[in-house]
Amino acid sequence: MAASLGMKRRTLIVAGIGLLAAPAILRATASTAASRETSNMSAMMLPEINQFKLGSFKITAIRDGGNVLDKPFETFGTNQDPETVKKLLTDNFLPTEKFVNSYSPALIDTGSDVILVDTGFGAAGRERGLGKLQDGLKAAGYAADDVTVVALTHLHGDHIGGLMENGAPAFKNARYVAGQAEYDFWSSKAREGTPAEGGHKAVLANVVPLADKTTFIKDGDPVASGITAVLAPGHTPGHMVFHAESDGKRIVLTGDTANHYILSLLHPEWEVRFDMDKAQAAASRKKVFDMIATDKIAFLGYHMPFPAVGFAEKEGTGYRFVPKTYQFDI
Ligand SMILES: [Zn+2]
Repeated sequence: MAASLGMKRRTLIVAGIGLLAAPAILRATASTAASRETSNMSAMMLPEINQFKLGSFKITAIRDGGNVLDKPFETFGTNQDPETVKKLLTDNFLPTEKFVNSYSPALIDTGSDVILVDTGFGAAGRERGLGKLQDGLKAAGYAADDVTVVALTHLHGDHIGGLMENGAPAFKNARYVAGQAEYDFWSSKAREGTPAEGGHKAVLANVVPLADKTTFIKDGDPVASGITAVLAPGHTPGHMVFHAESDGKRIVLTGDTANHYILSLLHPEWEVRFDMDKAQAAASRKKVFDMIATDKIAFLGYHMPFPAVGFAEKEGTGYRFVPKTYQFDI
């Protein structure tokens, strides 16, 4: 984790953390010693933020947290021989038996709107060292009440958990944007008694109460000025990606289109356990990343290794992840 800590120091300096952020940082530091006792790696980390300019927009990726999960070959490349998946991991300097999953909501400050894309786990993740979005917002110099729009790529628990705090909206000045197809699927009573029932209940608790303040969108619709939604289904039935453009500079927030920077990008056709329609998800992965690679646009992937932003170049039948360095700084 040394590289990650180094990156955190650098990104915090780049972000120009002000005095306002100090209490949050001190609180997080005070909890570090206690967390170390439980050797919970993610809980001992400060909220990490990655802030950069895109034209006249200011974008902040905030790490809601991360966790270590077992057996990557049981999540990615599930239609492959596990040895094939392990070899690709080894060839790319990664361990074969465990992997780290990151969760990165992002804030797009357009000057007229502050748009939060996805909300992390919220309170439900805090015992596991997740749910750090609120602390991260403070560290980046924002208050929850500054958020004017909350846009959701899809309605899985790690994206909607932060919508509510203590039974009330966490972003009380915000309106909401969600995909119509996505909302219709998860809010339907038809999900009862199916594998999607848990997701259905989470949507009833966190999204349905906000429906009055939600704009339900379809493919090609605007999220806010400068941001357009494009349907990229398969991970979930109405999963969307968001294209942001300012002064000719572009980034795509890819949500869960691809969730491992090696396994899912080098082999977009490999099946992923969490993709509900595996063939459709693979087709969306290829379509979205082919556009990103061809047009040489940056992307921000919700589960990409923090700082969660990079580029993709074509390699073989897939794409090689190229992490961002100083492209946005000069
Ligand atoms: Zn996710």
